[in-house]
Amino acid sequence: MAIQILPPQLANQIAAGEVVERPASVVKELVENSLDAGASRIDIEIEKGGSKLIRIRDNGSGIPKDELALALARHATSKVHSLEDLEAILSFGFRGEALASISSVSRLTLTSRTAEQSEAWQAYAEGSEMAVKVIPAAHPRGSSIDVVDLFFNTPARRRFLKSDKTEFTHIDEWLKRIALVRADIHFTLSHNGKLVRQYRPANSDNQYLQRLAQVSGKPFADQAIKVDCLHDGLHLTGYLQHPHSQQAVDCHYFYVNGRLVRDRLVNHAVRQAFAPHGESEQPGYVLMLSLDPHQVDVNVHPAKHEVRFHQARYVHDFILQVLQSALAQLQELPLGHNPA
Ligand code: ADP
Ligand code: MG
Repeated sequence: MAIQILPPQLANQIAAGEVVERPASVVKELVENSLDAGASRIDIEIEKGGSKLIRIRDNGSGIPKDELALALARHATSKVHSLEDLEAILSFGFRGEALASISSVSRLTLTSRTAEQSEAWQAYAEGSEMAVKVIPAAHPRGSSIDVVDLFFNTPARRRFLKSDKTEFTHIDEWLKRIALVRADIHFTLSHNGKLVRQYRPANSDNQYLQRLAQVSGKPFADQAIKVDCLHDGLHLTGYLQHPHSQQAVDCHYFYVNGRLVRDRLVNHAVRQAFAPHGESEQPGYVLMLSLDPHQVDVNVHPAKHEVRFHQARYVHDFILQVLQSALAQLQELPLGHNPA
């Protein structure tokens, strides 16, 4: 075969292979966009595990009419304009790939209105050239994205979808993780017309513990030990399971600048800190680390599950020390001290 440039839709479908694995990955990308757009409320509607419909509505900034077509194009982003921007990234997005990828493997419509516009507009991409059509629509300030018939044109992918229930569970689990780090956001999640989750905004420790109880169960929230330490540009906050609690807690979440990451460094620090205190082998934790974005590389993997710290040892030792001193102070703290 002669060398040819791929038509846009095919190029996007290939890119979609990396970021759009299943309905939950679509929800992740779209909700992250809503968060990047400064939304305070995000409503998620799912039908048939997301294979029929994924609808995300937000009250964020909206997209101006003349940028709608660009929003659906590949490598088009409002979040990064230079290498310097990329090295100091705080937004979830920066690749400019999600909307283009998702719309190449579904029937996607994007409806949006900015605060300045008196009317809303709707955009969708058609055909192998992914030419974008823009038509008038009704919508309050913010955006709605409808993703209908995911993978309808990529049957090999569609075949990999599990049952509606399983796919919905993946969505629900992902939302729990983001709900813990974005406690300021009002989220709702419904499935087949039924409201399944309602996370009301939490603005105090007490309200946060209520959200923690919703996500990880009351036993963990009731006993959780608060962590909050700022030192030399590193800020660690969150909650730890009480070392005397016997309950197995399936809650091991570590966020870096608001992004959930898999990182062995924090697991190691947690285990080391708990070792002298008792039996619990895998204590539950929700830990959020904030640091100068120049100190961490998030552009390691397309799905952004991993990060690289420039000073990994230093970060590890900081976390370990904070956890050790939180645990050292609690000798007298009885179980069940947070009746939320
Ligand atoms: P990225 O998030 O990496 O920039 P996306 O393909 O996810 O790439 O989105 C492309 C662009 O569309 C974003 O940079 C943003 O400007 C705009 N956008 C997407 N979703 C929303 C939304 N819910 N509200 C406002 N703007 C959005
Ligand atoms: Mg994005």
